[in-house]
Amino acid sequence: MQKHVSTIIVGGGPAGLYFASLLEKDKKDYLLLEATEILGGQLVKLYPEKDIVDISGIEVIKAKDYISFLISKLDERKICLNNKVKEIIPGSPIIVKANNEYTCDNLIVCSGLGSSTPRPLGVEKESEAKNILYKLDDFSFLKDKKVAIFGGGDSALDWAKHLSKISDNVSLIHRRTEFRGNANTIKDCHNLKVHLPFVPDHINIENNKAKSITIREVVSEENEPKYLEIAVDFILVNYGNIAEVPDFPLEKDGAFFKVNPNDFSASKNIFVIGDAVSYENKKRRIQPLIDEANRVYKLIS
Ligand SMILES: Cc1cc2nc3c(=O)[nH]c(=O)nc-3n(C[C@H](O)[C@H](O)[C@H](O)COP(=O)(O)OP(=O)(O)OC[C@H]3O[C@@H](n4cnc5c(N)ncnc54)[C@H](O)[C@@H]3O)c2cc1C
Repeated sequence: MQKHVSTIIVGGGPAGLYFASLLEKDKKDYLLLEATEILGGQLVKLYPEKDIVDISGIEVIKAKDYISFLISKLDERKICLNNKVKEIIPGSPIIVKANNEYTCDNLIVCSGLGSSTPRPLGVEKESEAKNILYKLDDFSFLKDKKVAIFGGGDSALDWAKHLSKISDNVSLIHRRTEFRGNANTIKDCHNLKVHLPFVPDHINIENNKAKSITIREVVSEENEPKYLEIAVDFILVNYGNIAEVPDFPLEKDGAFFKVNPNDFSASKNIFVIGDAVSYENKKRRIQPLIDEANRVYKLIS
């Protein structure tokens, strides 16, 4: 049997959580369906320690603290984790198919960049090594540890910067000759060992842990690559995520849903906010999604 809920929110990232906090404040009926086992979206999955400085009214707050703050406003009985929305059928009411089937009057799509899993390192036996990590909740357990970081974006560079302050044994490995992120981040990290352009070749496992990782220089075919073996306590992988964007019957612009920019509607009583939405000059940041949520909330309440 289908259960009827006034408002269903798809996705428990910052957009979904913020929208839920507005409904909760006014004691409205809603359900938030999140595909994964955790709330918080990209920020929490990729970089919970990040200082967020661009939310108006908050000088600085760590990503994970901002998410905890939003969660603290909600009633956990209205949140369903591991509950991916597989199908929606626009209409009156709207039908939503997840682990259960629901009907609702308003649907708020906050699916961001999709439900995502971290992109792996791509070496044999990777899943056996329990000391390969794809996200960091905390840096302190890595103090004085031997760490190899793989990645060339801003988050990998941030990890390298933070870790080189607490360990003299940190290596940063990237497959290109230049970083994709801002290399100034690590310019003062004198004890950081940087290997460019290198790729992981294989790991050497003992007791379900990678003891070392061998990296291979990226060279043109006619040259012999150099190999380097790096002893590790931990390997950190920051290759981004493989996203699965929901296939809802709404007009799309690439991976994003097109909306009417005046009210963020994609169909009757279906609204899209946050990173999932596409309109001219859309910025994929937190403050814009707060503004979008406030506007949609005014419309439906
Ligand atoms: C490393 C990093 C640093 C950043 N730093 C900043 C910063 O300093 N300041 C700033 O303003 N912004 C920053 N951002 C951008 C900010 O994180 C995004 O704008 C924000 O996360 C978008 O929130 P969202 O809820 O729209 O999407 P997401 O964060 O992508 O969350 C979407 C959620 O929906 C879920 N979902 C997807 N599909 C389904 C489905 N079918 N059913 C159920 N659930 C589903 C996902 O699992 C996920 O939990 C940063 C982003 C990253 C990656």
